[in-house]
Amino acid sequence: MLALRDVDSFYGSSHVLHQVGLEAKSGEILAVLGRNGVGKTTLLKTIMGLTSSHTGAIEVDGASISEMQTHQRARSGIAYVPQGREIIPDFTIRQNILMGCFARKDGKRAVPELAMELFPYLADNLNRPGGVLSGGQQQQLAIARALAADPRVLLLDEPTEGIQPNIVEEIEAIIVRLNKEVGLTVVLVEQNVGFARQAAQGFVLIEKGRVAEAGPTAELTDDLVQKHMAV
Ligand code: ADP
Repeated sequence: MLALRDVDSFYGSSHVLHQVGLEAKSGEILAVLGRNGVGKTTLLKTIMGLTSSHTGAIEVDGASISEMQTHQRARSGIAYVPQGREIIPDFTIRQNILMGCFARKDGKRAVPELAMELFPYLADNLNRPGGVLSGGQQQQLAIARALAADPRVLLLDEPTEGIQPNIVEEIEAIIVRLNKEVGLTVVLVEQNVGFARQAAQGFVLIEKGRVAEAGPTAELTDDLVQKHMAV
């Protein structure tokens, strides 16, 4: 579904990713793990075409997207939920969600039913400003905005970071539902190894901008976690 081969990525002259290869198979969750600063966010940004430049191959269903601009990548079915959520505080919840529609192929401009079903609080408060929401609700809104693009692949950057512990499980359950029930392929940057093990079928461990280890999550041993994630 989503494949990278020999991908190098840069911010200006700063060379951050080196020869990265990975594959998220259709309908699977791929967990991207590693310490702070190793290049996980850069990996997601590279897939969206949001670093200064990159080389190597990025494909969705066998079709190259490497030469595409960011909005074309979004239209090809990849939606990105960035680490800071990037909600527009003065826009209403509805307006924030509708922004995702600009990446739809079919031109439809409507709040997706799926998002309303998954996030009843948002459904009941569509006319309130995004800025009044808690961190967990903003994360829901960022996911709802991504769903408005009707994506095939969802890129999630630490979706539970900075969220109240009682809401974390709710967000995790939504991610699993989006994968299992809706069939979305998910690339999940995650610090929580427990959730990665529970939800993901595959993993990649990043170290200094390179893939250090990868495989099915059954092979994500405590030794590997200790080696590549302990601080
Ligand atoms: P992670 O997500 O694993 O914490 P990042 O992808 O954010 O890591 O960062 C990887 C490296 O790229 C770090 O050394 C960071 O300082 C650098 N970096 C991140 N964003 C930029 C940027 N906009 N310009 C230059 N360097 C950056």
